Amino acid sequence: MQTQVGIIGGGPSGLCLARLLSLAGVRSVILERHDRAHVEARIRAGVLEQGMIELMRKAQVGARMDREGLLHDGIVLTFDDRVERIDLPGHTGGQRVMVYGQTELTRDLYDAVLQDANVSVVFEAQGVRPLGFLDGEPRLDYVSDGKPQTLACDFIAGCDGYHGASRAAVPRGLITEYERVYPFGWLGLLADTPPVHEELIYSNHSRGFALCSMRSHTRSRYYVQVGQGEKVEDWSDERFWDEIRRRLPERFARNMVTGPSIEKSIAPLRSFVAEPLRFGKLFLVGDAGHIVPPTGAKGLNLAASDMHYLSTALIALYREGRGDLLERYSQTALRRIWAAVRFSWWFTSLTHKFNDDAIERKIQLAEFDYLTGSAAGRTTIAENYVGLPFDASFG
Ligand SMILES: Cc1cc2nc3c(=O)[nH]c(=O)nc-3n(C[C@H](O)[C@H](O)[C@H](O)COP(=O)(O)OP(=O)(O)OC[C@H]3O[C@@H](n4cnc5c(N)ncnc54)[C@H](O)[C@@H]3O)c2cc1C
Repeated sequence: MQTQVGIIGGGPSGLCLARLLSLAGVRSVILERHDRAHVEARIRAGVLEQGMIELMRKAQVGARMDREGLLHDGIVLTFDDRVERIDLPGHTGGQRVMVYGQTELTRDLYDAVLQDANVSVVFEAQGVRPLGFLDGEPRLDYVSDGKPQTLACDFIAGCDGYHGASRAAVPRGLITEYERVYPFGWLGLLADTPPVHEELIYSNHSRGFALCSMRSHTRSRYYVQVGQGEKVEDWSDERFWDEIRRRLPERFARNMVTGPSIEKSIAPLRSFVAEPLRFGKLFLVGDAGHIVPPTGAKGLNLAASDMHYLSTALIALYREGRGDLLERYSQTALRRIWAAVRFSWWFTSLTHKFNDDAIERKIQLAEFDYLTGSAAGRTTIAENYVGLPFDASFG
């Protein structure tokens, strides 16, 4: 088999990249390790920045998102019983975020991609190996239906997440990895209950962090910070609901509607960046190249700028024979990535319990007071939360 761009991974990055390339006439093949149902069922991101929203529209898959997504004008920050609201449009010249689940977005992308003549998807592709990308003859070896296969291509896009095959295939001497693992995780619970509040609540409580999020007016997504060794089996629904209520100010806790969980899982928190993001004809995109703690809702939104830069650069090459944008992909993408790594780390530091040290909590409270008491502080939170812009000079 032969194509122009071989894409490893059929998550949001691989699907959206394939779709953007296809609309410009560039062909691709996606090799996805799992089946469609498995990929679509993963409960992950829920908050989209303007950049991701625009990309979905550009990929002509934004109709349902625009109908069903919930636009949010603010977030709520709490510190024990203190409650402060950050007005997003008021501090950013009118920008907002949209609540639309990654499950829904992935389904919209698959609906389009599977009808698209320029894109083929191989599900349950096993043992994918990127080869030849440093010596100019890239190819992907893999096993499908028990038979070994080879996909020859001009370029490889590694969109296969943090545990994928693409970054692992890079010789160690060519890559630098920066990583911080946080000493806690997030226990998440999804339930068909109305959200406790119409906006997201980020709560810093002496018992630990909590987040009240949602997927719709009738489906809630809640998280509590838990220790590194915690097991999901030890958290009954009742224990979870009791804990999250204890971490919220009384006015929210008393309105919490509880119900049986649809899904419950624990996610570790890490900051991770690989540098560079290009190795000959192999490019890393999305979680394959970087991970942020989910506190700032940045993971998928960072993948969005990678998809934008890489699709723009590949289209410039195929249409105009211009290779300069491919040369700039890594450094341009990394600038926005590090800005979001910084914000996600900082927002995590502001809102989570790192230890029992009383001075740390006093300092967190002083920072909370300073930020919420100052127009500059509120603007800092708001403009990072709605997302820093893509580099407009790239094109
Ligand atoms: C609890 C949680 C909450 C989050 N909340 C937010 C949020 O609110 N906002 C936000 O922007 N982000 C959020 N994120 C992050 C977001 O979900 C990720 O950044 C996003 O999924 C990245 O997409 P991706 O396509 O790059 O990688 P992935 O979604 O990981 O997709 C990679 C794909 O590659 C496939 N694959 C892996 N290895 C191979 C292989 N060897 N061969 C073939 N295929 C392979 C996988 O099966 C998968 O389908 C959250 C994440 C978590 C865990």
